Parts: sequence; structure tokens; C-alpha cells
Amino acid sequence: MEFKPCPVCGRKPLLFSEDEVMCINGECSVYGVVTEKRVWNIRAEVVARDHQILKELKLEHELRNNVEKYRMKYT
Ligand SMILES: [Zn+2]
Repeated sequence: MEFKPCPVCGRKPLLFSEDEVMCINGECSVYGVVTEKRVWNIRAEVVARDHQILKELKLEHELRNNVEKYRMKYT
């Protein structure tokens, strides 16, 4: 089973046992926490999805701001 990068710091986790992994980045908030692979991957997916949603929201917000700017300029 392939495992995804750490949902917190993005580093590759260390295989701890046959079905458990943990983050070995000393500065990461989940450093040393042993997690079941399946749970690890679900978390990583949720985090990746949330990042995407935030990115799109931010983009939409910026677009709207730009439209406002142009509106003010040409009215
Ligand atoms: Zn980490």
C-alpha cells in the first residue's frame, strides 16, 4: 500500500510497522505519532482537498476584487 506525504508538513512518512506510519520531521506537530496507514491516507486526502478548496476560494475572491477595481476605474 502506497502512503501519502504527511498531511501537516508534506514530508514522506516513515514506515513504522507493516500497517503503521509516522512522521519523522522533528518540527512537525504530528512528529512521532504512529498512525494506521489507512487513516494516514484518508487524512492526507482530506487535507489535500481542503487546500484545493481554499485555493479556489482565494482565487475567486481575488478575481472579484479585480473586477471591482476595474469597475471603479471605468465608471
Ligand atoms: Zn509531518
